[in-house]
Amino acid sequence: MSDLILFWHRRDLRISDNLGLAAARARSRKIVGVFCLDPLILDRDDVAPARVKYLIGSLQSLQKRYAEAGSELLIIQADPKEGIPKLARSLNAAAVFFNQDVEPYGRDRDQSVVAALNHLGIEVQTFWDQLLHSPEEIKSGSGTPYTVYSPFWKNWSLQKKKDPAPDLAGVEGLTDSEREQAEGTIELPTEKELGYVWDQPLLLDPGEKAAQERLEEFCASAIYSYQEQRNFPAQSGTSLLSAALKFGVIGVRKVWAATVEIAENRGESDDIRVWRQELAWREFYQHAMYHFPELADGAYRKVLKDFPWENNEKYFQAWCEGKTGYPIIDAAMRQMNSTAWMHNRCRMIVASFLTKDLLVDYRLGEKYFMQRLYDGDLSANNGGWQWSTSSGMDPKPLRIFNPASQAKKFDADAEYIREWLPELRSVETQDLISGKISAAERDRAGYPKPIIDHAVQQRVFKERYAAQKATTGESGGD
Ligand SMILES: Cc1cc2nc3c(=O)[nH]c(=O)nc-3n(C[C@H](O)[C@H](O)[C@H](O)COP(=O)(O)OP(=O)(O)OC[C@H]3O[C@@H](n4cnc5c(N)ncnc54)[C@H](O)[C@@H]3O)c2cc1C
Repeated sequence: MSDLILFWHRRDLRISDNLGLAAARARSRKIVGVFCLDPLILDRDDVAPARVKYLIGSLQSLQKRYAEAGSELLIIQADPKEGIPKLARSLNAAAVFFNQDVEPYGRDRDQSVVAALNHLGIEVQTFWDQLLHSPEEIKSGSGTPYTVYSPFWKNWSLQKKKDPAPDLAGVEGLTDSEREQAEGTIELPTEKELGYVWDQPLLLDPGEKAAQERLEEFCASAIYSYQEQRNFPAQSGTSLLSAALKFGVIGVRKVWAATVEIAENRGESDDIRVWRQELAWREFYQHAMYHFPELADGAYRKVLKDFPWENNEKYFQAWCEGKTGYPIIDAAMRQMNSTAWMHNRCRMIVASFLTKDLLVDYRLGEKYFMQRLYDGDLSANNGGWQWSTSSGMDPKPLRIFNPASQAKKFDADAEYIREWLPELRSVETQDLISGKISAAERDRAGYPKPIIDHAVQQRVFKERYAAQKATTGESGGD
């Protein structure tokens, strides 16, 4: 009889191209999966209902995939530090395998779980699966982690990538009596039973099949014009794979292999390179979070650590609701509020506006994004916010986006603005872009006046920034 290996899924909700799971299969036929619904994550105040919907849907799909492979995925709802060892002991598991994470909470949790399992005499094996290169693999010549993206990319892109791992197949699950002994298992609840309601459709259906199909669709079309089209929020120019990558519903080696296949068939191109660079940004921010966990708590740069933010509550609310009177900002915020996703260009524009125009601490925006985005991810979100605030690594130049210039460049026909602000559909394109909408038009549409003046606010920001630089003595960043 084979030893039972319990495989603990976290951000790897799939049975294909899963390194830890493939290693478990190489060792034993008897593999049972477990997912722990962790109240320490699910009861936080930054959980997006749409993200929980995607998670639950992906777990349903994973249960089916396990059944097809011959075994099952168990569900527990507990603090993993107690729930995982208890379940492993009750099943008499020989070992627990899992893939590692970069986030501070996950790393502390894992240490405690490993200690508890070791205490019970249960073997533990861990793997790096969610990244093409683990945080210890990519270091500068002097052995330190990179804090600037370009040299990181240069090194990362030159390293050999692993092939996708084989799908889980031909496994056996629990016997009836073992299933009865399993401590703490429950039926998979719905997101509503967990207290989260998201009634809108998700941009990408949960589960491995939908993610794989999306990858194929993207690789058959949009990737060939990615370099240019990715910047236009009215176009379907990007992959929409972020939630699948966040939850590991698709393996990153499979994603990479798809780019290699295109390059082999059609030749390397700037479009492929630029998309790969985005995958590398994802890894850069995860490495940064791993090596500098303090990023999760506040600004990396001294100059923005104690910045005199105004945190005007009315401005913040107007920003959240898409009622700032700046059409491109409001369109973007309404896109996120309605779909749980926002185009990358717009994420940068609204983040710059919140911090540099409204003088609101980026951490409030970062949290609001987490409360809304179905792809919300600590490392990518924090990285994006710190980049936009100029508070993170790689701060040059000091970026202040002018909403009108951004709209002119990236939404020249105001197609995106009209889609999300239907009340302004009949307003002239030029006025939607510049934001200079007449009082009569605003009254007719019930659309607010601009809550601030961009020119004035960016001056104020720059003055405060210069003063902070003088006080802290920090150089660079402009
Ligand atoms: C303020 C701000 C907040 C953000 N918050 C998140 C977040 O919570 N979760 C998230 O996944 N991304 C976040 N991003 C990055 C980016 O906006 C999204 O990954 C992207 O819009 C997702 O769309 P896509 O899957 O079509 O991306 P594509 O353009 O097809 O890119 C492919 C993949 O690369 C990764 N990626 C792309 N751009 C970035 C980036 N700048 N940083 C890190 N990874 C990237 C994503 O996994 C994405 O799915 C944020 C960016 C900013 C500026």
